[in-house]
Amino acid sequence: MIALLLALVFSANQGSAVQLSFPDEPGLKSVEIVWENKKVPAFHVDDRWTTILGVDIDAKPGKHATSVFFTMNDGRLDQREVVIEIETKKYPTTELKVDDRYVELSKPDLARANREAKETEAIYAVIGDEMLWNEPFKVPIPGETGTNFGHRRIFNGQPRAPHAGADLHAATGTPIHATNRGRVVLAKHLFFTGNTVILDHGLGVYSLYAHLSRIDVKRGVMVSSGQLLGLAGATGRVTGPHLHWGMRVQGARVDPFTLVEIGK
Ligand SMILES: [Zn+2]
Repeated sequence: MIALLLALVFSANQGSAVQLSFPDEPGLKSVEIVWENKKVPAFHVDDRWTTILGVDIDAKPGKHATSVFFTMNDGRLDQREVVIEIETKKYPTTELKVDDRYVELSKPDLARANREAKETEAIYAVIGDEMLWNEPFKVPIPGETGTNFGHRRIFNGQPRAPHAGADLHAATGTPIHATNRGRVVLAKHLFFTGNTVILDHGLGVYSLYAHLSRIDVKRGVMVSSGQLLGLAGATGRVTGPHLHWGMRVQGARVDPFTLVEIGK
């Protein structure tokens, strides 16, 4: 109990990325955090060990005790507790009444959407042990803002999943840039998100770019921070051209702008 009382406390909103950081010690070989039953490695930069954890939009508010494991060069293992204090964040809800045919998917469309959701969730479930990014995360369209992360929509009384990304204004043909260095793990057309690119940045951090009119990268290649991924468009289930930019951190749906904030 005493360890818990003395524990380091990090606070984070629902739907955000949070950076944890520990001072280096002589003989320290590796640091690993167990967060929501997932093992997340920390990386060594200068005199600190740092990692980024994702707090899902629907994460339970309150104190979450988290174990941090320090492995020494001589094999000794030291365990400490930290507390992640999750704070409630209210996101707006909109109720819409629309003709059912706009809400109900046909059987083949539903089957395709479900298959693709499984495919993307399987991608997000992998926590790569190598940190691939090398600079702060950037907005894929420099200077743009998107404020509708987390908005909940209720169609004809049926609540939908909250909006898991930020929509950025973009005319068709606007260049879309990688938020950071990473590997292309998906580059193809999906039912809901149209022409889609997903980058794996390592440590469970993924970025998604949706509704593109053109994809300029291939699955498997490494892209540098700011590299052109394709052009904005209106493919998939959309009402007009824009960029849907999503970030997943160890599977958690987080506001992409909270990752940009970390680098500041
Ligand atoms: Zn969107």
